[in-house]
Amino acid sequence: MNTGMSSISHVLLDIEGTTCPVSFVAATLFPYARARLQPFLQSHGQDPDLQPLLSDLNAAWRSADHETEKQQSKDPSQHPSLDQLCIFLQQLIDADRKLTALKDLQGLIWNEGYADGQLRTPLFNDVPPTLKRWHADGLHLAVYSSGSVAAQQLLYAHSNAGDLRPLFSAWFDTRSGPKQDPASYLQIANSLAVSAARILFVSDSLAELDAAQASGLATCFSRRAGNPDQNPGSHNLINSLEEIQFTG
Ligand SMILES: [Mg+2]
Repeated sequence: MNTGMSSISHVLLDIEGTTCPVSFVAATLFPYARARLQPFLQSHGQDPDLQPLLSDLNAAWRSADHETEKQQSKDPSQHPSLDQLCIFLQQLIDADRKLTALKDLQGLIWNEGYADGQLRTPLFNDVPPTLKRWHADGLHLAVYSSGSVAAQQLLYAHSNAGDLRPLFSAWFDTRSGPKQDPASYLQIANSLAVSAARILFVSDSLAELDAAQASGLATCFSRRAGNPDQNPGSHNLINSLEEIQFTG
């Protein structure tokens, strides 16, 4: 493929649109968590482990601007009913508002869904065999996704090819910085204790690839069914992980 690929020792992989369809996250995972909020809180609302999270959610509800409940919302002892809390959380999800406690709650709901077999990650067909081959060949594999590390591990633990977590040696989320910031890739190279030029980053996002390339990483643009059609520019275009050649 391109010059320099023979020096690659680490492969850093995006998830959505790269190893699994964007639709799995957008059309399966998020609606699943949204629909399960109420039944989950109904069955687990009294669990001692859940109390710190619930108190964060209640606090977020109190500090939100409830049009008809503004007076009540100022009372720090005020708790929302289960219905009120669920409506509020669904509004946050629909508005794509980031709230750590909500993210954690979604993670717990997905955990339950994966554990009882209702959720399973539909990795693209070429992904499991290629990751296994790379791993066997001695390449170091890592994940970089905007989903939390906990969510990434859940996704790979319950894939259509079984538990693939042992193939990965490192997991990065936005705690390493935004995926469109070149500095994030230097931070990751630093964590991996390897020079940027020895890392190949694979993603379906041109902005992410541009950032990685600006920091000296090799890049591949992932074109997959369900992704918007884009010109890969200066990035190597692949339709499958199998197309990546590290030697030659
Ligand atoms: Mg992506």
